[in-house]
Amino acid sequence: MTALLEIDLDAIAANWRALDAMHAGHTAGVVKADAYGLGATHVAPKLLSIGCRHFFTAHLSEALSIRVLVPGAMLAVLNGILPGEAAEFSARGIVPVCGALHELALWRAEAQRRGEALPVILHVDTGLARLGLSALELARLRNDSGLLDGLRVEYVMTHLACADSPDDPMNARQAAAFAAAMRQFPGAKTSFANSSGMFLGPVFGSDLARPGAALYGIDPGTERGRNPMRPVLRLSAPILQIHEVAPGESVGYGGDWTAQRPSRIATIGVGYADGFHRSLGNRATAYFDATPVPLVGRVSMDLTTFDITGLPGLQPGDRLTLIGDRHGPDELAREAGTNGYEILTSLGRRYQRRYGGA
Ligand SMILES: *Cc1c(COP(=O)(O)O)cnc(C)c1O
Repeated sequence: MTALLEIDLDAIAANWRALDAMHAGHTAGVVKADAYGLGATHVAPKLLSIGCRHFFTAHLSEALSIRVLVPGAMLAVLNGILPGEAAEFSARGIVPVCGALHELALWRAEAQRRGEALPVILHVDTGLARLGLSALELARLRNDSGLLDGLRVEYVMTHLACADSPDDPMNARQAAAFAAAMRQFPGAKTSFANSSGMFLGPVFGSDLARPGAALYGIDPGTERGRNPMRPVLRLSAPILQIHEVAPGESVGYGGDWTAQRPSRIATIGVGYADGFHRSLGNRATAYFDATPVPLVGRVSMDLTTFDITGLPGLQPGDRLTLIGDRHGPDELAREAGTNGYEILTSLGRRYQRRYGGA
């Protein structure tokens, strides 16, 4: 009887289908960071089974761990290629996203070594200034076609900086910059929007959308007030002990919370070592059925305390829901002062995991 993380693969599949249906081109599945903490070895084959044929990870090691699970699909590494990795990329049929000339040089050398053309995705920087070919590097590519010798450009991609703010003028600026860059690659296929970008309008359409967060139920943030995605996970934990605390007595490390009335405090075995962030101290809300219960005191490494005074019937063994339909990763993120992405990718390794819809 431990904390339980239930992941609904059918809901993830439904989210992919919904995104795919509204996009004119193809839709990939971004499964980096272990599918945002939910388990890439479960998520990727599920997406493959419903027709997803393009996958992205951040690192080569992540791509290697799912390569055999998505046979026949394109599997690409967003962070690009490092010295010493080229042979493994080519041997396992993994595509590097190259956003710098030195990366292209590594991949070109591998194509020459193998004596065959190798697929590449070119990443063009249009304003994020993190990864991607700069205007100067694009000019060098334009003037020296040899820089792509032996390489077959599968897609030219870019990435949005402010997609979750629909009114930010940065979005239109990046769309214009991408269109301008594409004039250099006539006929090449494009890859543009992430989850939020897919909701920004047809200008942000492309041959391959790259949603991650929305697959996992995170609000793409463009239908204000209403998350169009289905929730995909539930995190619950049993009450270990219940403590009666008198007015004036404090709870937890540092005595950060003091009872104002006779209180019942429930302790659960989830803490910051499980990705239940320390910043949630005195801020988070859990649920018992429809009733919210406030987190009181600090979050410690392995334990957290909740004020269940309003629920006199609760007993040790009853489960509190920490993440669920009433209170998703985005709501918990607001309480923690972060975003839903960080909540998901820091979900702990100590939870019992149960997959539905496998
Ligand atoms: C992570 C990532 C995505 C997916 O972004 P979401 O906001 O999670 O949909 C797409 N493209 C690139 C380059 C990324 O790094």
